[in-house]
Amino acid sequence: MKIQKIETLVCHARMRNWVFVKVVTDQPGLYGWGEATLEWHTRAVVGAIEDVAELIVGEDPRRIEHLWQMMYRQHFWHGHGIVRSTAISGIDIALWDIAGKIAGQPCSQLFGGSVRDWIRTYCHLGGGKMEDFYEIAEDDAKRFAELATQAVGEGFTAMKTLAVPPTMPIEGLVPIRRAEAAVAAMRDAVGDEIDLMVDCHARPSPAMGLKFGKALDPYGLYFFEEPCWPENLDGLAAINAATTTPVATGERITNLAAFRDLFARRGCEICQCDITHCGGLTGARRIAALADAHNIALAPHNPQGPVSTAASLEFGFSQPGYIICETVHADVPWRDDVVEEGYTIESEGRLAQPNTKPGLGVEINEEAVKQHPFEQELPQRVFYRDGSIGDW
Ligand SMILES: [Mg+2]
Repeated sequence: MKIQKIETLVCHARMRNWVFVKVVTDQPGLYGWGEATLEWHTRAVVGAIEDVAELIVGEDPRRIEHLWQMMYRQHFWHGHGIVRSTAISGIDIALWDIAGKIAGQPCSQLFGGSVRDWIRTYCHLGGGKMEDFYEIAEDDAKRFAELATQAVGEGFTAMKTLAVPPTMPIEGLVPIRRAEAAVAAMRDAVGDEIDLMVDCHARPSPAMGLKFGKALDPYGLYFFEEPCWPENLDGLAAINAATTTPVATGERITNLAAFRDLFARRGCEICQCDITHCGGLTGARRIAALADAHNIALAPHNPQGPVSTAASLEFGFSQPGYIICETVHADVPWRDDVVEEGYTIESEGRLAQPNTKPGLGVEINEEAVKQHPFEQELPQRVFYRDGSIGDW
């Protein structure tokens, strides 16, 4: 059995271009789907997949670890730069889909079988509509509360918001009070039964992240995400130690050694490795073993397209430390047109039931994808009041 070709299908989904990867074998009808979505880097990733494909076309797709080593280590440059790591991840996910199809089993069965009956999912405020997640006025606590109530009405028991505004390295009380007001309004609106998460998008400096963390601690957040740059392990560790709210991070980390350092410094309680960036299911499973050794939970980053969600669920059904699946459901109204999924999500409680189809259980509708060709992603840039550059 040989890999015959590796194709990419780009599907413009407003905020992102979903990059679907199709690994085609020389066996009739046997192919796998992966996803390598990397917003604002679509052309680079498509090119990187072409470069990496040179290494493995003609090889046996069943030798996943061997091919992963080729993709990561050959051609001199290691595969942890974000573009190449995303390309490798997309191909790796497709190889596991093929392995599942060969076995006639969902991927989670290949990873040792299911460790749970269902997986809880959470949404972004607004369900992934970018204006409702990224563009609520920072002093509009009422709007945060309305959207949180709406998510509960849609059946979610957990939701994430970007209630921490961009701040310069040091600022006074105003942004802290605004974040606190937004979270207080959401908590008042949904009560204690619903889990709220705040994503800081690594906007704050460690000093500001600590201030936000302390201010929001009394509201019992489920987790507090990227409270400072992921590169700043001491900052993450200090915030994680100073608050009872668990810190979550990892979506921008692409290699095992960096996760080792993060975990060893106790920079987080929740690992948000992104399966489409951290080396695919092969990389994520190694990271999960490392997290397990530190009793760190898993909640993979997943705001991308439907293949990424399927991969996260297959991973989650096989990983004891997996706590919740990030989902986006309202980014584009035609999301369901491009994919047929093997798993189901109940509208009441938004619990994912396991996929029973082979591999990832997904089928991409290639004709539907063609209706949404590549478009440049909408720019998202942050400048502080004085014109200096901030983090989005
Ligand atoms: Mg995030």
